[in-house]
Amino acid sequence: MQKGISLKPYNTFGIDVNAASFASFDSIEALSTLLPSIKQQETLISGGGSNMLFTKDFEGLFVRNCIKGIKEIERTETHVVIEAGAGEVWHDFVMFCVDKGYGGLENLSLIPGCVGASPMQNIGAYGVEIKDTFAYLDAVEIATGNLKRFHLTDCAFGYRESVFKRELKNQFIICRVAFTLSLNPIMNTSYGVIEAELKQMGITTPGIKDVSNAVIRIRQSKLPDPKQLGNAGSFFKNPVVSVKVLESIQSTYERVPSYPAGEGYVKLAAGWLIEQAGWKGKRFGNVGVHELQALVLVNYGGGTGKEIYELSQRIIEDILEKFGVNLEREVNIY
Ligand code: FAD
Ligand code: NAP
Repeated sequence: MQKGISLKPYNTFGIDVNAASFASFDSIEALSTLLPSIKQQETLISGGGSNMLFTKDFEGLFVRNCIKGIKEIERTETHVVIEAGAGEVWHDFVMFCVDKGYGGLENLSLIPGCVGASPMQNIGAYGVEIKDTFAYLDAVEIATGNLKRFHLTDCAFGYRESVFKRELKNQFIICRVAFTLSLNPIMNTSYGVIEAELKQMGITTPGIKDVSNAVIRIRQSKLPDPKQLGNAGSFFKNPVVSVKVLESIQSTYERVPSYPAGEGYVKLAAGWLIEQAGWKGKRFGNVGVHELQALVLVNYGGGTGKEIYELSQRIIEDILEKFGVNLEREVNIY
């Protein structure tokens, strides 16, 4: 246990705040010995810190989950179940699966962070979410120290949502996650830009490595690398609104992009709304809105979490006023 540690290296926004206490564990046994301290104070479990914004010093215990290991649990003629430790780097795990020819996670290449956080918001990209291949996860209940297995329906996965962000918030520490992957994968290239990228790469019958490469190329071309420019990916969720709201926006913006989201509802692209409102590429001191993707707020260096939070608040108010749409933050605020 260390005291008064800067969290700058542990959050991809690069916000320089201190944690009162800091600890890490690399096994369930090591976690057990930490549990009494975890129970005593406000505790934040972290992986890669790529979905967090610190607006002030963290007065409690900041804990890094470093449980490693990837293993095959089960194999049939068509599928393989692969389990990974929560502290495995997500992209490295995806590359492991892609290289072995296990299909299902390739569209989720290059998402920052660790395996243990992936169920928290049911990470998703390019038409795929982890719920599509999720097998189970094992998590330690903080109150009892018991290890509990959660299957798909227990997790109540939704769009960037899970039971761990709602009813069971701060109650469980995810230690390992398993996925059922295909040995005869069918590519998911329904998301337009993937097809376009594959075409540009000259690939007509893609395999999972090709899809993964296409996703990596697209992401590298428009998303800032947190190592170069502090950010936490999409700052806001894409809002789901009624068709009535869409029609009202269409009366001014005929070409507003929208995607079906259940009977009577559509999903709007938050980045498009923010761009139309004129925020894209705007810089305010050391923080701003990324020049290529308006959904991403950035720290140019030396920015504070409070400045980023205040910028996000101004954007929320402006989008509500201009479009009648209430944006919700995706990034966890502390
Ligand atoms: P952290 O930021 O460390 O933690 C996030 C939350 O999970 C916190 O509430 C934390 O307490 C909790 N948590 C973490 N680990 C555990 C655990 N083991 N047990 C219990 N709770 C835990 N997200 C997407 O969904 N799709 C994308 O395409 C995507 N692209 C991104 C691109 C960029 C450039 C960046 C910077 C971020 C992107 N993100 C994306 C967001 C982020 O990478 C993911 O949400 C990722 O899963 C966060 O992982 P992490 O380990 O960094 O989590
Ligand atoms: P984009 O391709 O510019 O598209 C903008 C938005 O429109 C996306 O957010 C996406 O919603 C939606 N969209 C586009 N085509 C779609 C389709 N065929 N079906 C349904 N929805 C569609 O998006 P982008 O910002 O470059 O991101 C590409 C992908 O990576 C997206 O899936 C995005 O979620 C993911 N991503 C996530 C984060 C994060 O931090 N959460 C950061 C970067 C990228 P969805 O977001 O619902 O897919």
